Amino acid sequence: MQPSTRIRTLTGTEDDGWGLFIRARSMIAAGEEVLELTIGEHDIRTDPRILEAIFRSARDGHTGYAMVPGIPKLREAVAKRLRDRTGVPTTPDNILITPGGQAALFASHHAACDQGDRALFIDPYYATYPGTIRAVGAEAVPVQARPEDGFQPRQDVLMEAAQGARSLLINTPNNPTGVVYTPDTIAGIAEVAEAQDLWLISDEVYDTQVWDGHHISPRALPGMAERTLVVGSLSKSHAMTGSRLGWVAGPAEVIDRLITLATHTTYGVPGYIQDAGLYALSLGAEFEAEIGAPFRRRRDILNALLAGQQVIRAVPAQGAMYAMLDIRATGLTGEGFANALLDAEKIAVMPGESFGDAAAGHIRVALTLPDDAFAEAASRLIRFATARAATPAAE
Ligand code: PMP
Repeated sequence: MQPSTRIRTLTGTEDDGWGLFIRARSMIAAGEEVLELTIGEHDIRTDPRILEAIFRSARDGHTGYAMVPGIPKLREAVAKRLRDRTGVPTTPDNILITPGGQAALFASHHAACDQGDRALFIDPYYATYPGTIRAVGAEAVPVQARPEDGFQPRQDVLMEAAQGARSLLINTPNNPTGVVYTPDTIAGIAEVAEAQDLWLISDEVYDTQVWDGHHISPRALPGMAERTLVVGSLSKSHAMTGSRLGWVAGPAEVIDRLITLATHTTYGVPGYIQDAGLYALSLGAEFEAEIGAPFRRRRDILNALLAGQQVIRAVPAQGAMYAMLDIRATGLTGEGFANALLDAEKIAVMPGESFGDAAAGHIRVALTLPDDAFAEAASRLIRFATARAATPAAE
């Protein structure tokens, strides 16, 4: 018995490029010591005070079905956060609480796209994007942001690709590049969305982790709130990846429809997780800065180490938990470099190619090891690249 075409073709034909990650994990399982700079997972665990909030809520009996749209206090807390951060009038009716940003990405595309619609996303991209778009029956169409443009999407390229499209998914601060979109980029994107009548889906899960520049939510631009769906999450900002707590923010009529979708898919988020999320948000911006600070420190460590060499070109890491390094001077592909580095130095990084064609010849380094271990891994990586560049014939 065949499963549906949709489920069989969810991941498309592109190589998902996660072979390296799986290989690193099997080496670790076999007892080898591997320094992992692969996935976007903090090297700290969820704060004990937030864990206590989970236990307290569960012990108080919040273990039954919670309200599907989210508990009113959390919807209000998220609405207030968006009002405070962007100035856009936002009420609980504009917010659906979801099991993580991932479910919010899925719900947003469900709201935006009909079967067969063209749904654009920017390449390089977060790994789940094309599959999420295909999961709602839309056609996933990558639009390249190129290294020579600092991985900022170009308005003319977008405008052309957007003809006849239904939606555009963007992500700033960006995974995998670590780039923060400039005010010009965001204004250009908003113009394209208006000119081509697109839904703009704005993935802002790294909005508290900005080291250079400022995070600008396109929802705050004139006329954009009615066509923008913002994806948010506590995963990165509060080190709560495993708690699965996120949201969609958008026009009340759309959120109303998405509540119906949630009723028929997730049936909401556990009440004790929502209570803990409410508590986590009450810790304020200071706590969010504390969670983000290690990534900024490691970005600085990496920049200092890179300053003394010519082989690796760093894309300026301006936010999120990643740095993208151009290793083309070694003569290797991103995949070739990552595999050789894993074999020679037992350091795991992600090949740029696993995030789309635009990041070919790059590697993504997650800033997710304690400072000393990170500095050690980065020095060895640079030494390795320098040696490879000196002996390209060895490949
Ligand atoms: N968007 C981006 C860009 C991400 O990097 C991630 C997680 N790595 C997500 C969305 C999903 O995050 P979550 O479901 O944990 O909120």
